[in-house]
Amino acid sequence: MSKLLMLVGPSGVGKGSIVSELRKVRSDVWLSVSATTREPRTGEVDGEHYFFVSQAEFDLLIARNDLLEWAEYAGHRYGTPKQEVISKLESGLLVVLEIELAGARQVKKQMPEVLDVMVLPPSISELEARLTNRGTEDPQEVRTRLALASMELEAQGEFSHLIVNDTVSHAMEQLIPLLPPQKS
Ligand code: 5GP
Repeated sequence: MSKLLMLVGPSGVGKGSIVSELRKVRSDVWLSVSATTREPRTGEVDGEHYFFVSQAEFDLLIARNDLLEWAEYAGHRYGTPKQEVISKLESGLLVVLEIELAGARQVKKQMPEVLDVMVLPPSISELEARLTNRGTEDPQEVRTRLALASMELEAQGEFSHLIVNDTVSHAMEQLIPLLPPQKS
């Protein structure tokens, strides 16, 4: 059973909350920290939430083939550092990627055994409410992310597993049975 879990789904759907909850019940979870060219939001810590890099630094990551996948999303680039993922998988950890659709497609091509899960919102209006209420994006950015969300949700048929994040505890009930058992 694959030890690589990919949580894919629209911005605001609550992938981060699911990973936080998963960490409480499994000590073998390692969440990949992505590189991004987006500016940090208030409270975001470099090296913890993301590696915040310049455009030139991101270009270099691509040129050196250091990224497992990368994509442009809402005007910024995001990518998964490859070496860390490989070494954590080798050490037996459950590696979690929290990524958008274009990157997910690249991972599926390279690692077809990946456990691919799309996280769905209970409805588009609920997603809009979550994006608006978290207050991290301005109204224009919320509109961009909602338009991207509709496109992402149309691709749900590409995923082996769909879970609905109406509440985090319900999402966990759907996710836990899909995971490989934790070795003690
Ligand atoms: P945000 O700006 O809200 O942090 O992230 C925007 C979108 O990019 C989210 O759907 C998030 O899951 C996705 N994302 C974060 N890191 C990566 C990454 O390394 N690769 C890809 N393809 N998407 C990512």
